[in-house]
Amino acid sequence: MRILVTGAAGFIGSAFVRNLLADAYAGWEGARVTALDKLTYAGNRANLPAADPRLEFVRGDVCDLGLLRELLPGHDAVVHFAAESHVDRSLAGAAPFFRTNVLGTQTLLDAVLDSGVPRVVHVSTDEVYGSIAEGSWTEDRPLLPNTPYAASKACSDLVARTYWRTHGLDVSVTRCSNNYGPYQHPEKLIPLFVTHLLEGRQVPLYGDGRHIREWLHVDDHCRAVHLVLDRGRAGEVYNVGGGNERTNRAVTERLLELTGSGPEMVRHVADRKAHDLRYSVDESKIRDELGYAPRTGFEEGLAATVAWYRDHPDWWKAAKYGAGRARG
Ligand code: NAD
Repeated sequence: MRILVTGAAGFIGSAFVRNLLADAYAGWEGARVTALDKLTYAGNRANLPAADPRLEFVRGDVCDLGLLRELLPGHDAVVHFAAESHVDRSLAGAAPFFRTNVLGTQTLLDAVLDSGVPRVVHVSTDEVYGSIAEGSWTEDRPLLPNTPYAASKACSDLVARTYWRTHGLDVSVTRCSNNYGPYQHPEKLIPLFVTHLLEGRQVPLYGDGRHIREWLHVDDHCRAVHLVLDRGRAGEVYNVGGGNERTNRAVTERLLELTGSGPEMVRHVADRKAHDLRYSVDESKIRDELGYAPRTGFEEGLAATVAWYRDHPDWWKAAKYGAGRARG
């Protein structure tokens, strides 16, 4: 079995590859991995094993059709994580988001068709649905993205659907809620706040902190991606969520406790433009059809994540103060 993983040096892609190489996924034991990543500010080669006979790392761009045509033949599947992923950056400049997320997905799927790779999973996000005050989105809800990031992901999500509908490509889409865990770039809320608090710095909480997110440990997301890869149906979308809804204020308060910090460490900053109030996915489809259930409780997972950042200052300081500087 050979699998090509795009965005494999990022937060979620690298977790998927590490788990795959550790034979965590039934039916994919011994699989060989081609890890393709452009190594933008968000990608880090050190997120993957330095040397593993089953791993080949290729630095490259998902917009590079020639490279993809060279690489893809002989693979049994592609899992497509590569994206520009940070909402705040998309507000500052949307062009790289549409280039990588939309054109990159279209280029990748064209190359998949050319090379005859039989199976693709496209990793999308719950942010394509927009914001929901009450209840949860099922997969058939309209896409109403509110930020350039979410719009670019919605476009790529629909590119995947059209390649199934028009070309018969065996592609499934996952739409997952907010992930947390080790190796997440410290521009994102949880690692930004944890690392600021570990440095004794105040954390910048948007608005009044009432925005609600549904948190899922990255390993649970990756297990869901594997289930969809293995048994998901072509042309179908699968929501993935954790059921752990928390306001940003509640998450912040828990992080203060876990790092032994006081309430004076929170600094309220002007709200993000078009800040979605709440995300919530209905994940009954993946539970009923594929037997998916998250395994990591939020409290336990968050404590382990804080401990990981405490134990890996070299990793997060390089990401935070290197080329890809974090907000705040
Ligand atoms: P990330 O920013 O940590 O990683 C993205 C990776 O893609 C990086 O390694 C980067 O170098 C690489 N990349 C960027 N542009 C590229 C290009 N043109 N060609 C090749 N590689 C490129 O993001 P993440 O949090 O790991 O997210 C991975 C995927 O999961 C994304 O598609 C994202 O939209 C989706 N997702 C993320 C979350 C979340 O909470 N983080 C939730 C749901 C869905």
